Amino acid sequence: MWGPGRRGDIIGGVETLQVGICEDDAQLRSVLERALRREGFAVRVTASGREAVEVFSAAPPDLLVLDIGLPDADGRDVCQALRVNSVSSPVIFLTARSALTDRLSGFHVGADDYVTKPFAVAELIARIRVAARRRAETAAEPAAGGLEVDPVVHAVRNGERTVQLTPTEFRMLAALAARPGQVVRRAELRSAAWPDGAIVHDNTIDAYVVRLRRKLAEVASAEALETVRGVGYVLR
Ligand code: CA
Repeated sequence: MWGPGRRGDIIGGVETLQVGICEDDAQLRSVLERALRREGFAVRVTASGREAVEVFSAAPPDLLVLDIGLPDADGRDVCQALRVNSVSSPVIFLTARSALTDRLSGFHVGADDYVTKPFAVAELIARIRVAARRRAETAAEPAAGGLEVDPVVHAVRNGERTVQLTPTEFRMLAALAARPGQVVRRAELRSAAWPDGAIVHDNTIDAYVVRLRRKLAEVASAEALETVRGVGYVLR
């Protein structure tokens, strides 16, 4: 599945870095695949958000390169769904040069980075090397119970039960479910749920939490969304 090296292969005394790519532009995808392989990375490419969640949840790479503008999903939502599935790999987002770029500076999930299209492949490779150095050494927390989130249709699933979420509900729940048992501060929830930087008041966040509690009950979630007064919320 990973080529040319497999996980743990040692080439020239250095462990092969596994890079997962999700890019829907076939030409760019193949340019990246070839360039990164030439660098000695093991590369696995995917072309849609759905495929990326499936492939990279099953076999998390050391690092992910995710296009934000995918045909079936927002690459940031794909990232969140992977986080919920305990994939802690650093992510470098690819984004078109637009107004979004400025707002993205406020977007952060862990050690994530972004590169604006068009970019020189050498620039991406340099970023990959930096991100790989600071990649989290700690293992990911186990995912929240049986909850799964779907970034394509914005839904939450628990076993056989599925309930539809709005994109904002999806983003808020994914931020909480990616860190089960940990308190997520209001400011973090705000930037996760409104990644383009809307002005959002605390009572709006509270209203979303009420809706999420109802939806978690609908899927018979074992986890509940608890309030930590004056700080934020925790899913446990
Ligand atoms: Ca695209």
